Amino acid sequence: MRPEYFDAHSHISFEGFDTDRAEVIARMKERNVWTITVGCDRETSQKAVDTSELYEEVFACIGQHPADNRAEAFDADFYRALLSNKRVVAVGECGIDYFRIKDAEMKIKEKERQVPLFKKQIELALEFDKPLMIHGRPSPRTMDAYEDILEILTSYGKTNKSKLRGNIHFFAGNVDIAKQFLTLGFTLSFTGVITFTSDYDEVIKAVPLEMIMSETDCPYVTPVPHRGVRNESIYVEEVVKRIAQLKGDNVEVVKMAMVSNAMRVFDIR
Ligand SMILES: [Zn+2]
Repeated sequence: MRPEYFDAHSHISFEGFDTDRAEVIARMKERNVWTITVGCDRETSQKAVDTSELYEEVFACIGQHPADNRAEAFDADFYRALLSNKRVVAVGECGIDYFRIKDAEMKIKEKERQVPLFKKQIELALEFDKPLMIHGRPSPRTMDAYEDILEILTSYGKTNKSKLRGNIHFFAGNVDIAKQFLTLGFTLSFTGVITFTSDYDEVIKAVPLEMIMSETDCPYVTPVPHRGVRNESIYVEEVVKRIAQLKGDNVEVVKMAMVSNAMRVFDIR
């Protein structure tokens, strides 16, 4: 079986879908859209797995976000138990986030907390031979978080070249950063943001189609023309259309590539 569209990163197991998740997934079924629902801590990772067991269109990604739940200590054994479930296709979203850092002192503290948290999840992904779902968010007007992620991945890549792999979700870097991730073999995924800003046009044009994925990150960042309502996985269609437009490719070709890329990287058959 093969979907029409693939939303490579969503949060349809989050609270915002608790009242109508079945309808949201029914709309996905109708349009043949598949997704990976992503956890950000223990509770949401468990819920991602539970949702993925109920619906064949939904796969799970489990892990701890660098900045969403700062108080939670990382429990590797909890995630190990989830990773034994065959619906779990990746580890994350994990990575580095310096977006809301107020000063240099806070940045040092956050780096000291976030780097080991990220490394533990890279090690878990290597242990279970799974791809990573990476979240990177730099401080305004810098590429700092991406630079740190690249340095960490490069060092793990030296000894784990064949196993270290994954996707940089919600890519918001420049062409130079994009090329460095591509060199490491990582794909880049783009959200509905590309439908209302031209900030990523150059990056999308520069990255080969087989290294791009479509995502919604729903319930966040609803694409045009649905702005103002909660985002959901079926709106990934707008992201696909925009990628096709920017690359000057046929929509059908891009649709198929987005599905193939997600199924290849996340080993979904
Ligand atoms: Zn997310």
